[in-house]
Amino acid sequence: MSRPLVVLGATGSVGRQTLEVANHLGLQVTGIGARLPSPELLDLALSYPGAALAVAGGSAGDRKEFANSLAGRNVEFGSEALIALAVTPAQTIMNAVVGLAGLPFTLAALEAGNRLALANKESLVAAGPLVQTALSRGGGELIPVDSEHSAILQCLMGEDQGALVRLILTASGGPFRGWSREEMEEVTPAQALKHPNWVMGKRITVDSATLVNKAFEVIEANQLFGLSFDQIEVVIHPQSVVHSMVEFSDGSTKAHLGYPDMRIPIAFALTYPLRGPGLVGGFRWPGQRLTFEEVDLEAFPALALGFAAGRQGGSAPTILNAADEIAVEAFLTGRLGFNGISRVISDALETVPHSNPSNLEEVIEVDRVARTTAASLIVGAC
Ligand code: NAD
Ligand code: MG
Repeated sequence: MSRPLVVLGATGSVGRQTLEVANHLGLQVTGIGARLPSPELLDLALSYPGAALAVAGGSAGDRKEFANSLAGRNVEFGSEALIALAVTPAQTIMNAVVGLAGLPFTLAALEAGNRLALANKESLVAAGPLVQTALSRGGGELIPVDSEHSAILQCLMGEDQGALVRLILTASGGPFRGWSREEMEEVTPAQALKHPNWVMGKRITVDSATLVNKAFEVIEANQLFGLSFDQIEVVIHPQSVVHSMVEFSDGSTKAHLGYPDMRIPIAFALTYPLRGPGLVGGFRWPGQRLTFEEVDLEAFPALALGFAAGRQGGSAPTILNAADEIAVEAFLTGRLGFNGISRVISDALETVPHSNPSNLEEVIEVDRVARTTAASLIVGAC
């Protein structure tokens, strides 16, 4: 039913769940890629003896040790090795790498005409137009893995694009829903890393607490579904059961519901447009309360920054992503306060000169300048 699968970012939260879903669906895993030659990757390599292995980083010594532990296996090193996996013909490529590092793999998979199951939302945020070009040039398929966008895709199936009125993205509100900005001033990384509904990698968990993640998802929705920013709204839904909604011209709204479990949208991306047997049971309705609230934009200014950067286009979303990557890292290592994350993003958007990057090199250059600027703003903040 489904094509063989390559999983990039296989050791991460989405990567591991993808392998679990693939096993359940009986899919052949032909390639595995990750950042480091870690014990976790070694375990995966041994569990998938037929998979080609690609490791982006690691010291020379660690690489050698890793390759020695897998004598006789095909292991390649460097980012090019992950690109080589991404262009293997007639595959589904799951891009579950975190950060802008995932962009070259997104572009390569689409240029090669593969189906790309895209968890790496940073590709679409930082370089949406390049991703669109790669998609139309290579004739591949781009299937979102993010739960909100998978929900929207499912609501849109069989519908006429002309009847779309708006997309309503749901947001849990994160661990600080209902808090004022002053109350969030002293938030610690441990508090920010406790998401109420989802267990995810560190960056996206902090991004969910600041609502930067929702800002990214607004831009992602604009890129994936072609609706303007005026037609995309965000509503807080603390239970994370309604994954998103689509409103149509006749006043109907379709919603996609289910338990907050990434294995559902991951499986859909792998079996699209069909559905396979799930790992997650159906939703139990009795006793459930589903509630919806407005976003507090004063407490969570990052969402408005995301809309503004998306509307501005060009390098603005690239700067948004880069500044956030640096700010989150600084927050997690105790060099920046929680509210400092949105301050650094806002200041970087003001400071970094705007441009219209039109190829990968130009995006990487904007990203580099934005990172340097964000880092200097952080030093200034302390
Ligand atoms: P994670 O931190 O758990 O895992 C990241 C993976 O990326 C690891 O396997 C790591 O080895 C790999 N990686 C990091 N840098 C790399 C590099 N330079 N080259 C190659 N590989 C590299 O992250 P995650 O939570 O699984 O998130 C992955 C992506 O999916 C992110 O873009 C995130 O926004 C998105 N996403 C995650 C969730 C979730 O539930 N975790 C939900 C929706 C979207
Ligand atoms: Mg999401």
